[in-house]
Amino acid sequence: MLVHTIKEVRDNVKQWKKEGLTVGVVPTMGALHAGHASLIKKAVEKCDKVVVSVFVNPIQFGPAEDYDKYPRTLDADVKLAEGIGADIIFAPSPDEMYGKGQRLSNDTLTYVAPPYFYVNKLCGKTRVGHFDGVCTVVMKLFNITQADYGFFGQKDAQQFIILNKMVHDLNVPIELIECPIVREPSGLALSSRNKYLDEKGKVDALALSQILNNIKACYNKGITDISALKETSLKFLNENHDLEYLEFVDKDNLEDKTKADDNTLVLIACRVHGVRLIDNILLK
Ligand code: AMP
Repeated sequence: MLVHTIKEVRDNVKQWKKEGLTVGVVPTMGALHAGHASLIKKAVEKCDKVVVSVFVNPIQFGPAEDYDKYPRTLDADVKLAEGIGADIIFAPSPDEMYGKGQRLSNDTLTYVAPPYFYVNKLCGKTRVGHFDGVCTVVMKLFNITQADYGFFGQKDAQQFIILNKMVHDLNVPIELIECPIVREPSGLALSSRNKYLDEKGKVDALALSQILNNIKACYNKGITDISALKETSLKFLNENHDLEYLEFVDKDNLEDKTKADDNTLVLIACRVHGVRLIDNILLK
């Protein structure tokens, strides 16, 4: 069932809770693909009732980012989510989420701001304020749905670690479940932003997964020196790539690694033909 208001979600959840049913929430920005589908499937398997939110959240986009042109495919999203067994697709307007006429700034709106250590690196370095926007909207979705479980992709690994920290620090009564990255057969991680790529762009986009797989293969051969592992990626990059970062951090707390080990998460962000893509791999 497609609903657009917070009240409709709350009314349904109230009834479900009365019946003692468990609730799962899958927050998304829509343009759903097989990656999102895997999260919804996991949620349907684990929970009695599932809410999928479809909301392109204005407060997590920077002024020069792609908020306006972000793909919006609500009809197809509803079909896909309902086909898997989602009970509610919650697609609010920005006014519904933040209040009509509300100025979307942390001067005027209560934000959930994750700690500096977690946001001052990787995607947070260039996307200033992004994780404040993510935590704020996700916290609102947790409060609206009263969900017992929240489902997120490893695709956004920094986001997952930050959200887990938020849930822990603020005693939010929910368990977060991380789902593996779904890829095309070529290795390209599925992303709504892949829609911006043409055929040549998709070929050049393979560099991200190739770099990560190659680093893992080198680690498995015994190389643990991070500079040496970074060096192996250069051969995959050409003039269509603008590498933003390639970092080695602890998978649990995002601390920088001095040497690669089994707990190391390798994350990459790279512009390919101008489209910003991210990917990551765990070395274990
Ligand atoms: P988005 O709509 O991009 O905000 O993503 C919504 C959720 O889907 C996030 O938890 C993402 O990590 C997850 N997700 C996006 N792409 C993938 C993928 N290729 N595999 C698994 N999960 C994904």
